[in-house]
Amino acid sequence: MKKVVKFGGSSLANAKQFKKVADIIKADKSRRYVVPSAPGKRNDKDEKVTDMLYACYDAVAEGRSYKKILDKIKERYNEIIDGLDLNLNLDHEFDKIEENFLAKAGRDYAASRGEYLNGIVMANYLGYEFIDAAEVIFFDDNGNFEADITDKELSERLSHVERAVVPGFYGSRPDGSIKTFSRGGSDITGSLVAKAINADLYENWTDVSGFFACDPRIVSSPRCIDELSYQELRELSYMGANVLHEDSIFPVRQAGIPIHI
Ligand code: ASP
Repeated sequence: MKKVVKFGGSSLANAKQFKKVADIIKADKSRRYVVPSAPGKRNDKDEKVTDMLYACYDAVAEGRSYKKILDKIKERYNEIIDGLDLNLNLDHEFDKIEENFLAKAGRDYAASRGEYLNGIVMANYLGYEFIDAAEVIFFDDNGNFEADITDKELSERLSHVERAVVPGFYGSRPDGSIKTFSRGGSDITGSLVAKAINADLYENWTDVSGFFACDPRIVSSPRCIDELSYQELRELSYMGANVLHEDSIFPVRQAGIPIHI
């Protein structure tokens, strides 16, 4: 039995959440491949790391001061690393990121670092192998996703790895530059990994307990829908149900892999 587990940003917003996530992963040994998002909001007034990275990159690109926001991003990760008592230091990674921001590596590169760094932290905490998504998820020169090459490369790479963390949301173009999916795209990465390893199940862990019959912000305690077809799920996602990225349905649908939300 092989399962792919994807965790959203609010499920990985701080060390306490990381511990919960690790407990979930360790509770079932078939949960072998993990796809994390970047750290999300810790509370209503908080910021997502992805948004901070965009803001930081824009400041660099426009020649404004950016050190403060970069420090705030570093603090988010250090708070997690310290809270988990990890023997891990991301200073070198942050130096490289700053250097690449100054060299105008692009907004996609900037945003992708949220998942990249969270993947390193997660792999270190779980003792799983870290696989940079840039090495296994591909786009063409125009930024269109390359499904076939990705599937081939991902399956080949993962066939040699018992347990791995693959950060969500991004991949690379032929010239090595980073390209992201649209916002919420870690769901797509999870689905691609599930297809590549021919998983028995794609588990998508998020901050709502399932797919509700209506928006819980409008109707209190709506009924949870037990089962949906891929088509229903795709349509509801496309129409704005904010549970799963609409494009994450195709890869698992093709392979007939169920999704648990
Ligand atoms: N971190 C990215 C976002 O905020 C991707 C994701 O969470 O799936 O959109």
